[in-house]
Amino acid sequence: MKNLHNALLLKRLYQLKELGYKYTSEEPFKENEQNTLELPNSLLALKQQAQNCHLCSLSKNRNHIVFGEGNEQADLMFIGDAPLEIEDNTGKIFLGRGGEMLTAMIEKVIGISRQKVYLTNLLKCHPLVNKAVHEPEYHTCKAYLFKEIELVKPKIIVTLGEQAYHYLTNDTTKLTNIRGTVMVKDNHSIIPTYHPNFLLKNPSLKKDVFEDLKRVKGLLR
Ligand code: SF4
Repeated sequence: MKNLHNALLLKRLYQLKELGYKYTSEEPFKENEQNTLELPNSLLALKQQAQNCHLCSLSKNRNHIVFGEGNEQADLMFIGDAPLEIEDNTGKIFLGRGGEMLTAMIEKVIGISRQKVYLTNLLKCHPLVNKAVHEPEYHTCKAYLFKEIELVKPKIIVTLGEQAYHYLTNDTTKLTNIRGTVMVKDNHSIIPTYHPNFLLKNPSLKKDVFEDLKRVKGLLR
């Protein structure tokens, strides 16, 4: 196990070198007492680990990690794709007009406060505008998302946008064809719908999201 650890550590240092880092003082993944490589078992520790994460190139330009927030025992979790610049500047999730729209929908359509749900993203670092995010970055970061799901244990997950749905389920069906469908995976129901930032540019689709969230409300009863 020690050899495995050393090999992974070496690989990580090469990755950091390729990204232009001269050194790092923190290990992205820490060993537990059994000397295995695992993510921590509390949301606070997981967030702290993400704050020191340099596992992909998105770490180079971030100002803040944008980690999930809300009710840590929520029955309902929303998963978006990636933080916006405004969120990168503050470290807070779902800000701006899209965030306001999501909050209003949660409160007015589902009938619960934003504080009662858990909100997170597939990526914890803000990608630069006009710079494509590649598959390895999504795949690397989704380890944090999967751990959040494991710790919060939501009954219902609403994915916002195509990337969140695709990387959560490995299903590449187009969002327009799958939106609003309820599927059961592990111990939760997953409902894909449009991202609020997409609705800002396509307001005629709001009615579809209202229908999806009414379905969520029915499942929560
Ligand atoms: S996007 Fe995720 S994997 Fe990449 S550096 Fe940020 S926290 Fe780490």
